Amino acid sequence: MIHIAGHYIFDGKNFHKNAFISIDQKGTITHISDTGEALKEKSKMMFYSGIIMPGMINAHCHLELSGFKKSDENHKDLSYFINSIITKREETLNNNRCEYFDKLMFDNGINCVGDISNTEISIPAKAKSRIKYHSFIELSGLNPKNIQEKLFFAEKLKNKFLEYNLNCSIVPHSFYSVSEELFKSISEIKNNSPVSIHLMESQEEIDLFFYKKGKLYDLLNKIFPEFIQFIDSTEKLKQYLNLFNQSNIILVHNTFLKNKIISNNLNLYFCLCPKSNLFLHNQIPDKDFVLENTDKIILGTDSMASNNNLDVFDELKTFANSYQIYELELLLPMITSRAAKALNFTNFGKLKIGNNPGIILLENVDLQNLKLLNESSVKRII
Ligand SMILES: [Zn+2]
Repeated sequence: MIHIAGHYIFDGKNFHKNAFISIDQKGTITHISDTGEALKEKSKMMFYSGIIMPGMINAHCHLELSGFKKSDENHKDLSYFINSIITKREETLNNNRCEYFDKLMFDNGINCVGDISNTEISIPAKAKSRIKYHSFIELSGLNPKNIQEKLFFAEKLKNKFLEYNLNCSIVPHSFYSVSEELFKSISEIKNNSPVSIHLMESQEEIDLFFYKKGKLYDLLNKIFPEFIQFIDSTEKLKQYLNLFNQSNIILVHNTFLKNKIISNNLNLYFCLCPKSNLFLHNQIPDKDFVLENTDKIILGTDSMASNNNLDVFDELKTFANSYQIYELELLLPMITSRAAKALNFTNFGKLKIGNNPGIILLENVDLQNLKLLNESSVKRII
């Protein structure tokens, strides 16, 4: 049994000044002290300068694209990006770096990851990882004729994940790449929460849905000329989302989101990937959107195809600087308790007796005002 004390303990929601937690050999929390208790001498108590908090959660990642070498040409459009992912997919999958990045994420303080999986290549790394993954088995498909084939593929892949006791659900890639019929079929799958959907990542999606033109429109027309699914109103978007009212829904990116959504839907979360958005589109979601939905926001790194690391704390800093939001009380739930709730990781993201969420130290913060600083950093303790 050891005791870990700090200037503050952040339990996922609240701060406890000069408190400590007790941890057994397995890393399970056995006691959380009252405020001020850390100031009393105690054997096997280590005092850290900073904030003790639960391991972090990266809510959106594509581990299987870890071998992808990020292009130096930033701010290319989405159709360029999709094309290059398609053409380089083989090379990327062969150059599998899942294990390397899995370990790096753990070392950097991440304990849970929501990870998009189109293939089985991440299974070996996940099966032996110290990180808890929820894998989103992602489907695309505009041709309603192929639905059974797609679902069969997804079920088969899901069973492979389940063989290794890895949590997973089957999800639609986005509104532009999945037919209405396939959306419905996916929504009918039982016990399939959470669901992740890429949404309004680029201006091209706006051009496609609202103006029926642009490069993405042209690309889709080439792949599937019968494309007619234009999500050009809040009402239409709601209809699609309501299909999944039994699940947690994580809308990913939201960079160009123009629709006013639906924040009264309790199961809805907005995952932002600020570094990936800045790299690909030099744009992040509107500040008004962020301020209106702060209590729904979680963060993800996206993949190495559009980022220089998979470090969710780095995303938090970019988010803070982009929106000038530095209050730790607002920021930390995005990468701990709220993200855990969205991903159904009930034992993670908060410090609670009986949990083993991983323990990290947040250093170099403004302790007087509990604010994030540019020089803030995290370090794994347990
Ligand atoms: Zn993604």
